[in-house]
Amino acid sequence: MGIKVLLIEDEEALQGLLEYNLQKEGFEVAIEGDGGEALVAVAEHSPDIVLLDWMLPHKNGIDICRALRKDKATKTLPIIMLTARAEEEDKLRGLGYGADDYITKPFSVSEVIARIRAVLRRTTPQMAENIASFADITLDRAQMRVTRAGRNITLGPTEFRLLEMLIRRPGRVYARAQLLDRVWGQDVYVEERTVDVHVGRLRKALNRPGERDPIRTVRAAGYALDETYKG
Ligand code: CA
Repeated sequence: MGIKVLLIEDEEALQGLLEYNLQKEGFEVAIEGDGGEALVAVAEHSPDIVLLDWMLPHKNGIDICRALRKDKATKTLPIIMLTARAEEEDKLRGLGYGADDYITKPFSVSEVIARIRAVLRRTTPQMAENIASFADITLDRAQMRVTRAGRNITLGPTEFRLLEMLIRRPGRVYARAQLLDRVWGQDVYVEERTVDVHVGRLRKALNRPGERDPIRTVRAAGYALDETYKG
């Protein structure tokens, strides 16, 4: 499962250039061109990182960034701001509204990719490295192996991808629709109840009788790894 980048940018030439090159690098890419729709797009696509242009129609990047930082679901979402001039970058840095990094236009595609990787390594090491761990659970992306308290856990491919998604940001609540989108893919029609079935299988594989369940069901919202679980 790739890392999903949401590009919020109204220049069509840049949209095409970044989409093509990011996909070539193995990223999943979603695009929104209207600042007024940015928050809806973030909720809909549940990206792993956002590239956010400053000057956008209807709502500017600074206001969007502030709104994302205020919302519990997106307050730690990695954000890289795109600005048109170096002076703007200086100004943005001074504003302290919470972007993780800044890129000044014009930029090279390889610079954007390097910055995305650097920001992810810094803000979300759980996602950027091959091995992710949460309490006594370890997930190895390269070998597709999971252990809990040192014992091997056998998971089906869907359960592995579910855990891989949840472990990227422990504590973050993923709605069923978001999990369907990210784990099953946007083009597949699956009922939301299917998510419950596979979370049930994941729990059964992870938990021995009497062991605490590290997965939290959030009423009317979805699923998350339970941050209070320490193994
Ligand atoms: Ca713009």
